[in-house]
Amino acid sequence: MTEPEPSRTPYVNASATGEIPSFNGDEKAKATDFANYFCSYAQLYHQKQMLADHNRMAAYHAAILGNSDVFKGKVVMDVGTGSGILAVWAAQAGARKVYAIEYTDMANHARTVMEANGVDHIVTVIQGAVEDIELPIESDNLELETANEGDEHRVVDIIISEWMGYFLLRESMLDSIIRARDKFLKQRTGLMFPSHTTMYIAPVCDEGERKQGAGEYAGAMSDWSDFCETTKHIYGVDMKTLESNFDREQKDYYLFSSRWTELPSEAVLAEPKIIKYLDLSTCTLADARGIESDATDNSFDFEINGNEYAGPISGLSGWFTADFKSRTDDVGVKCAPKVQNPAFLSTGPENGYTHWGQQTFYFLSSIPLLNNETTHLSGAIEMQRTKENSRLYNSRLRYTSSRLRKDNKDKKNGEEENTKILMKSAMVEQVYQIP
Ligand code: SAH
Repeated sequence: MTEPEPSRTPYVNASATGEIPSFNGDEKAKATDFANYFCSYAQLYHQKQMLADHNRMAAYHAAILGNSDVFKGKVVMDVGTGSGILAVWAAQAGARKVYAIEYTDMANHARTVMEANGVDHIVTVIQGAVEDIELPIESDNLELETANEGDEHRVVDIIISEWMGYFLLRESMLDSIIRARDKFLKQRTGLMFPSHTTMYIAPVCDEGERKQGAGEYAGAMSDWSDFCETTKHIYGVDMKTLESNFDREQKDYYLFSSRWTELPSEAVLAEPKIIKYLDLSTCTLADARGIESDATDNSFDFEINGNEYAGPISGLSGWFTADFKSRTDDVGVKCAPKVQNPAFLSTGPENGYTHWGQQTFYFLSSIPLLNNETTHLSGAIEMQRTKENSRLYNSRLRYTSSRLRKDNKDKKNGEEENTKILMKSAMVEQVYQIP
């Protein structure tokens, strides 16, 4: 999923706790969240955009219908069913009961879809936030995994959901998935679909888009100059005093926001680096928050060999993949059913169009690659929810570049190759918003 391009002014939905409002928001935060985040999902126009993303569709279709042995006779929950497509597939794969949960009025359309596809006796659509709803455990005769205290809702065998936002975490719907898992999923045997997700970054060459951003910024500032002149001459008021504020605003918008890109695989200059891996059976709400400065995986050291055609480095691009495979945690490996036909979704440049695309963080100035020299791009990435809005993220990049030449000239027998540092840049630190 992903909501459509956001407006220029990010909305404010922050609750006192920084939680997403569907879990813990005051009335105002909930209303703002509904008006801005959820409202687009109530439109068929937007659901259709996701339904027409064939990489997305093919992965979920293969995951569910390719593993009907796993779904047969099971109780399934589709968190955020939207138009209901995943719930229909779960029923077609042989699920005994499917609960399709949807916050928005799209729930009404989902009910119609269930009837039209002859699965309304299997799928029950429940309208509400998954954080708030209850399952009809008694009336539907659902089996609890244990009689232990705290497990009185754990009747679900498989949670399916398409919760991923731009650069995986944007929209923060993962919180809702974790809460649904911890309340409803059978702990020992339950499966999460997707089961694992991986975030990647890689240095990319894409000067066209980088220069376009720079050009748009320059255009906005030149327009501001004209505007100031006109306002002074014609209306007699000096607006120049606001120039630095306008400049800040335009920089944040055009230069320090990541951009949605559909990069060709040739744009990727080095082996992508994993910056976060999530096991959906075990990950915590803290894991879902973002990427902390002291995270284990968040640093990178890309080695890029220059040749006469390569480069320059225009920025770093980020994307994610999702796996639908067997559980890998200790309990799950022993107790949960095996997923015989794993499925996979990639939103990376090697896989062509998805509606997620990649989020590319363009550098203010590109980094040249020189023929026969190795350029290192090393640093770290952080990702944090914004203070104003718990569904949006900022990303902090820190990086230096250095150019090395491996020198054989002075090499005597048995001696290591000599590495000369030809250039090392100052550290660049920049916060980007993920719009
Ligand atoms: N499953 C559908 C739609 C995915 S979009 C498909 O794959 O095509 C995600 C959906 O989740 C949206 O319709 C959104 O309204 C819903 N959603 C997001 N958070 C939710 C929550 N906490 N409770 C219930 N529904 C939620």
